[in-house]
Amino acid sequence: MLDVPHISTGDIFRDNIKNHTKLGQKVKEILEEGGLVPDVITNEIAKERLEREDCRKGYILDGYPRTIDQARYLDDLLDDSDEKLDYVINIESSDECIIDRLSKRRYCPACGRIYHLLSTPPRKEGICDICGAKIIQRADDKEETIRDRLRIYHEQTKPLIDYYKQKGLLVNIDGERKIKPILEDILKIIGVK
Ligand code: AMP
Repeated sequence: MLDVPHISTGDIFRDNIKNHTKLGQKVKEILEEGGLVPDVITNEIAKERLEREDCRKGYILDGYPRTIDQARYLDDLLDDSDEKLDYVINIESSDECIIDRLSKRRYCPACGRIYHLLSTPPRKEGICDICGAKIIQRADDKEETIRDRLRIYHEQTKPLIDYYKQKGLLVNIDGERKIKPILEDILKIIGVK
């Protein structure tokens, strides 16, 4: 839709785990337990990805930065390449809403399509509409692990709200609505609609 790459550090880690790379072996347990991959590793992964040619006309960062240290590292990277962030979009949802959404989330390991068991279920139970593979639950979408991830979010990621507010980049969006109005708001903010 926007013709810029969607860069998700979580997707990069999951691909590495799936492909049994050295990085994948290093981070597998951390992801399964819902912890954060150490900043030095994550920053290096982000740097490598952002240096690729397809990022020269823009990109969407998803799940990075997640700590103040990562945000400072990203600032330095952007300074070095004379680039800047246009917006930091904070999609606000209560912990209860997030637990509901993630615990009922399923995904297709073959094509990556994401489902929610109640709001966007597959047409045939347990089977991906797109490619016919069996859909599964992410190991870190078990309720106990979601609660750990939320605890880490409040401790380590939430401070980024003030960090980016002070820089004048933060835009808050009500994330407790359906996907369509949230998407429309985001497109309006970035000037696509
Ligand atoms: P996500 O798909 O964004 O929910 O990320 C899945 C998991 O990957 C997280 O729970 C972390 O274990 C790891 N991860 C992704 N992005 C980061 C990041 N910026 N810093 C540290 N760990 C990350």
